[in-house]
Order: sequence, then structure tokens, then C-alpha cells
Amino acid sequence: MLCVRLFPGEGGGASSTKALEVLYHNDLDAVVYYQGSAEVAALYYQAFQLGEMRLVAEVARRHQAGKPENSLYVVSDCDETLLDNSDFNAWLMETGRDYHDTTWSEWCQARRARATPGAVDFCKFVVEHGASMIYVSSRFEADRQATADNLRALGFPLERSGPDPNDTQLYLTNMLLEGKKSKKKQQFAHLLARFGADPLLQLGDNLSDHEAERYSYKVEASQRKTSAEQDARRWGDDWIVFPNPIYGAWRSSLKRSDEEPPAAFQAAPVRSPLTEAPKMSLLSKWSG
Ligand SMILES: [Mg+2]
Repeated sequence: MLCVRLFPGEGGGASSTKALEVLYHNDLDAVVYYQGSAEVAALYYQAFQLGEMRLVAEVARRHQAGKPENSLYVVSDCDETLLDNSDFNAWLMETGRDYHDTTWSEWCQARRARATPGAVDFCKFVVEHGASMIYVSSRFEADRQATADNLRALGFPLERSGPDPNDTQLYLTNMLLEGKKSKKKQQFAHLLARFGADPLLQLGDNLSDHEAERYSYKVEASQRKTSAEQDARRWGDDWIVFPNPIYGAWRSSLKRSDEEPPAAFQAAPVRSPLTEAPKMSLLSKWSG
């Protein structure tokens, strides 16, 4: 949501022209941090390096045990795990738009996402070590070709990107599984059957990338945190998480917890807005 304030124009007076100035946007700090901080880049490199260490250890263990590697696969979410779409979020702020299926699809079709730090090298590493690389995304089936084009242009290893669930590396929202539209929960179950094993690693910026139900945006925020605590041994083991302060199920869950905020909170600005707007100049932005 954009927060705006009307300022009197030159000359003052009730009839003078009003200037509409964008003062603050809820996503502004998040996108500045995501695009501009070395810390975010370091967190991505750290997460991918951890993934590589886990993969090397598992391949060595299987080699010693004489086990075949054909069931070894890595599942990764795409957006804000492998793909950086923050130019889209900057464009939303600059143009006063909100996220919508239509604007999102428009962005996907533009094929302008960038790779997150270390992502391409990690995915190549997975393939070079004999594991299958599986991409799971909440992008729409209608954006399959554009998503595949974007991934390939960035150098991600993606040989099979068609809609056949038994012969593809790319699983998208509403793709057909046994004739029915599917989401992540069904797709994870399908992958388990297809490979005959759990994935070695699941990578994602949103915990529903690791388990769809307990970390759904429909689950209340405190319950999601309780689940994260219960899963403490999995983070950094088979589940690897990436930083995304811009959007996610965490945000929807918080909204559900805050459906009736106190009146005083509703009336007060979150912070002084005048210091925030100039940060837009720091951002890399899509031009639409
Ligand atoms: Mg994501």
C-alpha cells in the first residue's frame, strides 16, 4: 500500500495546485535491503555453499555404500531463491501498483528476473555431481515458456521444461498431475513417487517451499513459528532457507494475526515518511 500526503503548491491558498508526493511504501526498506545489502548476497552464498557441502557428503556416503545415485535429487523454489524479481517490486512501488496476478504474469513474460548470488553455480554443481535438479515454482502454468526461457538465459541447467510431470524439471502452479490441477503439496508427493525417495535438499525463501501445509499463509503466525522450532534439526540439513523480506507467507500470516489492530496504531504512520522516499533512487527498477 502506498501512503501519500498532499502538500500545498506554490503560492499557497486553498485553490492552489496540490502536489502529490509518495512518502512511504511498506516494501521500500525491504527492497533496498534485498537489492543493496552485501549481507543478503552473503546469505545466499552461504546457503548455496551449505547445500554443496551436504550434496558432496551424501554422494560420498552413497559411493561408499555402493548405492546408485539415480534417486538423488534437489528441489528448489525459483522466485527469491534462484531468481531475483526485486526489479518488479521496485516497479510496483514506482508506478503505484500492487501485486496482482496480472502484473506478476506481465513481469514473468518479460523474462527479466536476475539470478540470485551463487544460484547458477549451485544448480550446475548439483547436476555435475550426478543429482537431478528440480525447479518448483508458484508461477503459473501459462508462464511456463517464459520462465524456462528466463532460467536458461541465466545459465541454469534446465534440459526438460515441458508440462509432462514424469519428464520435466519444472513444476508450476496448476500443472496437471493425473489430470488434476496441482500445487506444491501434490507436486512434492509426485516427486517422492517419481524418484522413490525424499529429495536430498529442499531450498526456498518461503517455508511452504519445504512443507506446504504447516507453513501455509493460512496458518497463524505464531503456529508457523512453533513449527519452525519443531523442525529445528532440519534447517541447514535437508531444508535450506533464503532471506526474503519483501513478501511471503510470513506476511499473510501476520495480517491474519492483525486483522483488528488498535485504533492508535491505525492512525499513526509507521515512521517518518519523508526520509524514506529518496531511497527509491537507490533501486534497480523494471520499466514495465
Ligand atoms: Mg520463492
